[in-house]
Amino acid sequence: RLITLLRESSGGLIDIHVVSTDGLSYSLPAQRGVAPQNVADRDFFKAYKQSPASNMMIGAPGRTPGTLQLAVPVASRLDRPLHGISMVYASIEIRHLSGMYEDIRFKPNGTVALLRDDGVVLVRAPFVEQYVGRSIADGYDYLRHIKNGQSGMYMSGNSALDGLERLVSFIRLTDYPLTVIVSAGGEDTFRAWRETRRLSIITGLVISALLLAGALGGFYVLGVVQQSEITLRRLALFDALTGWLNRHAFDDAAQREFTVAGRQSRPLTVMSLDIDHFKRVNDTYGHAAGDIVLRKLSRQWGKSLRSSDITGRLGGEEFAVIMPDTGAEQAADIARRLLEETRALVIEVDGAMIQVTLSIGLATLSPFDFSFDDLLRRSDVALYSAKREGRDQVVVAPSQ
Ligand code: GH3
Ligand code: MG
Ligand code: MG
Repeated sequence: RLITLLRESSGGLIDIHVVSTDGLSYSLPAQRGVAPQNVADRDFFKAYKQSPASNMMIGAPGRTPGTLQLAVPVASRLDRPLHGISMVYASIEIRHLSGMYEDIRFKPNGTVALLRDDGVVLVRAPFVEQYVGRSIADGYDYLRHIKNGQSGMYMSGNSALDGLERLVSFIRLTDYPLTVIVSAGGEDTFRAWRETRRLSIITGLVISALLLAGALGGFYVLGVVQQSEITLRRLALFDALTGWLNRHAFDDAAQREFTVAGRQSRPLTVMSLDIDHFKRVNDTYGHAAGDIVLRKLSRQWGKSLRSSDITGRLGGEEFAVIMPDTGAEQAADIARRLLEETRALVIEVDGAMIQVTLSIGLATLSPFDFSFDDLLRRSDVALYSAKREGRDQVVVAPSQ
């Protein structure tokens, strides 16, 4: 009766089964006409067989006998077999759970997902059947952010599952091998970020997702929510590695500077920076060392720039600086200083001494730049010339 009550009070979300020592699964209470299902090849049963000591196990999603719905099995072994029964598991219906996630996800492009610690997707909203049970363990974001993190936020270039850009927040539950991932579509977020009101929706999502995960076993409340709002604001503006403005924030600032300089006929110079042969650094010393180099360099350059300069990281190892009230000659002096400092900087990573050079393109605002993009494009073209002409140099775009 308790089990029936549990099923009813969970609105059909949770269904209890028992498993015999030889891997046959029976529904409780026994349902007429439903034959026991063989679960001997399911991962949770195999884990039990291999290591009978393991206590709780969250299995990969599979179909529940009878209803044939996709469900996540949460299994627990008995201390010792009782009348041939060795295990009890609750099937948690995925459609049901993803329906709950669906109600609270950040629309239109946001997602809520529950991940097992090995990267297997248990539940995801929006519900897409082929994502369920799939592993994202090989994905870049998983390896870089989630695998070794307790919680965090990052901007995902493209999701392992559907290739969209998103702002992602995740937290690993301490008592269960589970991670909750909440994301909002990049574009949606940046629109939302202008209205702080919407930030609280994302915050609400984080709380709700935490509570939902709590439905799997105990309540989970953390002070991370406030923290996450602060992090979210920072993330929406600054690149985490270098502390320079990210692409979106840089573009915003660029529009402002472009308008002001145009209106007041003041000089404005843009500098495009790209590290030379940076791929070799990664190939020789590893990607993590590459990241350290990027951080040290950006910090070093920051010292030589003025506080009125606007520094942005536009892509991996591509940077740009907007220099208000600065003409081409003055900017070229500063650029040459950056080149010298870069050449002279020895970055020690795990005993290795890494040195790189830098190429810079410069362009100064002219009446023929109809948008900031025109100006940036010219400084990029100058940067390509600097690369072509042998790197480690500054090229100033011809005045037009
Ligand atoms: P050059 O600019 O002189 O033509 O050569 P490059 O090797 O720097 O050329 P390219 O721009 O093609 O390669 C950039 C490399 O930077 C590719 C990628 O592996 C690496 N990279 C991009 N983003 C990051 C990052 O965030 N961290 C690290 N460590 N490496 C990155
Ligand atoms: Mg490069
Ligand atoms: Mg590059």
